[in-house]
Amino acid sequence: MKTSIPKDNGLTIQKLPLMESFLTVQGEGLHTGSAAYFIRLGGCDVGCVWCDVKESWDASAHPQVSISDLVGIAENSGAKIVVITGGEPLMYNLEEFTAALQSAGLKTHIETSGAHPLTGNWDWLCFSPKKFMAPREKFYQAADELKVIIYNKSDFKWAEEHAAKCADQVNLFLQPEWSKRDQMTPMIVEYVKKNPKWRISLQTHKYMDIP
Ligand code: SF4
Repeated sequence: MKTSIPKDNGLTIQKLPLMESFLTVQGEGLHTGSAAYFIRLGGCDVGCVWCDVKESWDASAHPQVSISDLVGIAENSGAKIVVITGGEPLMYNLEEFTAALQSAGLKTHIETSGAHPLTGNWDWLCFSPKKFMAPREKFYQAADELKVIIYNKSDFKWAEEHAAKCADQVNLFLQPEWSKRDQMTPMIVEYVKKNPKWRISLQTHKYMDIP
């Protein structure tokens, strides 16, 4: 019987480290307000200083769960959308996982920094590049939405540099980093008024006090 293979190496993964999973409402981006089942995989080596899920970083701290069990709990939730997040979920080859989710009739969404190889078949790809580890080029054209976290004023220029490399039809979002939201949100509002190709994404789940 195969056991887990923790890194993307082109081989089949039978198990993935599960930090948590829960039925909630997507709080961010274009699908804000839609019911979704979140699966948060453990493991991240990107190292964002403001990361709000640092407990996800160490993959070994989280139990290995089989893909069939993960698909089963997602199916039982009743949600139509499954959001795979982390951590950095693309530290793992997700081909088999997304194939199994789609076979079960579920829409596959992902939130990724783009710092690792793009694997899996995604109905929605949220690309959120981070300054702490360069993203891979493939994500610019694959992204359905580009979500840039605004932590300080210089991040607007950084956001434009990434947007310029994306496909024309990509949905562009600026989102205030949560701890800086009081300072950054008014700046984002002014920026979007002057640069209407961008939209604002807020972490509405935090305002609603839901996971
Ligand atoms: Fe945290 Fe996400 Fe950055 Fe990883 S990529 S450090 S999980 S914010």
